[in-house]
Amino acid sequence: MYKPFTPEKIWIEKRVLRNETTREILSRLPEVPVKEIGTINEVLAREINASGEKILILAKQEGEFLKPCPGTRNYICCNYFFLNLATNCDINCSYCILQSYLNNPYMTVYTNLDEMYPELDKLLKKNANRFYRIGTGELTDSLTLDHLTRYSKKLIPFFLKHNNAILELKTKTTQIDNLLDFSPQNRVIVSWSLNPQEVIDREEKKSPSLRQRLAAAKQCGEAGYLLGFHFDPLIHYAGWENGYRDVVRRIFAAVPADRIVWISLGALRYSADMDRIVRKRHPESTIVLGEMFSGKDGKLRYFRPIRERMFQRMVQWIRQEDNQVRVYLCMESPEVWRKAFGEQPLVQCGLPQQLDQAVFQRRDGAEPVC
Ligand code: SF4
Repeated sequence: MYKPFTPEKIWIEKRVLRNETTREILSRLPEVPVKEIGTINEVLAREINASGEKILILAKQEGEFLKPCPGTRNYICCNYFFLNLATNCDINCSYCILQSYLNNPYMTVYTNLDEMYPELDKLLKKNANRFYRIGTGELTDSLTLDHLTRYSKKLIPFFLKHNNAILELKTKTTQIDNLLDFSPQNRVIVSWSLNPQEVIDREEKKSPSLRQRLAAAKQCGEAGYLLGFHFDPLIHYAGWENGYRDVVRRIFAAVPADRIVWISLGALRYSADMDRIVRKRHPESTIVLGEMFSGKDGKLRYFRPIRERMFQRMVQWIRQEDNQVRVYLCMESPEVWRKAFGEQPLVQCGLPQQLDQAVFQRRDGAEPVC
C-alpha cells in the first residue's frame, strides 16, 4: 500500500542551512528532528544507513542540474535531458536500477534551486533553436517527494514561460495535488509508469495501484496536462499477454487518446550485480528467475525473440485502440524496432525528432512531418 514518504530524521548540509527552499521544506516537517552535517560525501565516507531509519538529507547540487540522458551504447537513444533535483526513491521497486547504481542510500533533495534557474535559463536562451524534453525522474520518482518539496509548483511556472522546452514529470504515485493548482494548457507532461496489477503487487509493492494511477492520469488530463505512459520495464511472466492487454485497454478507457503524447516500451534489463541485490532485498520477486542474456551494453536482457514478441504485441494492442499515438522503444537496436513495428519507423526521421514532433502536435496542433 502506498504511503507518501515522511522522514524520521532530517540532516542538512551546513551550506544550505539558510537557503530559502531548505526553510520551506523544514516548515512542512516541524516535528522531525534536524541535524546539521558537513557535506553528504563526508557522511557517506563515515557511515552507512544500516538502521533502516527514514532519513532525508537536504543538500547542495554540486554539479550541473541538467544533464543529457546517459543512453546506452549501441542502442537507439531519444536525446532526453534530466534535471537532477533529488536522489533515491522510497517506492523500492524490485527491479529499480538505483539499487546498484547509487552509492548514496539516503533520500536526498537538492535545495539550491536559486542556482538551477539561471543555469536552465541560460541554456534555453543560448540554444533557442533547439527543443529540450526534460524530465526529473532519472534518480528518483518525479513526484514521490512533492508533498514535502512542492518542486512541481516551482518548475511548472518556469517551463510555462519557455517555448523551447517541455517538462515531463514521470511517476508511479498519485501525488498530483500541487499540479492541480495550474492550468498548463498542454505545456507540461505528466506520465505514469504502468504494469499489470499482478506485477505491481509483486514487484512495485509500495506504489499505488493501477486503478489509482489511471485515476490520477485522468484528473491531470482534465486539468490540461499532456499525458505519457511508460511500460518500462515490461516484465515477461506467465499470463503477460492478458495482463498487458488489459492495461492498454484501461489506459484508453480512462483518458482520451488525444491527451496522450507518447507511450514508451522498454523490456526488463539490469546490470549483472542486480541479480544478487534483488534476491537479497526482494525475495518474493520473480524477475531474477527468468533466463536473461547479456546485451551489447553488458546489461542482462530477455532473449531477443521474447523482447520482439512483447513489443509486437504491445504495438498491436495500442494501435487497436488508437493508431495516432506515438509509440517508441527505449534502448533497443534498429533490428528490434523493425520487428516490433513491422517496418523501420526511424527511416524518415530519428527518434529525437519524432518525439519533438509528438510534443508539437499535441501542444501546438502542428501537423507531424514524420
Ligand atoms: S518508482 Fe522508479 S525510481 Fe522509484 S523505486 Fe520504482 S523504479 Fe526506482
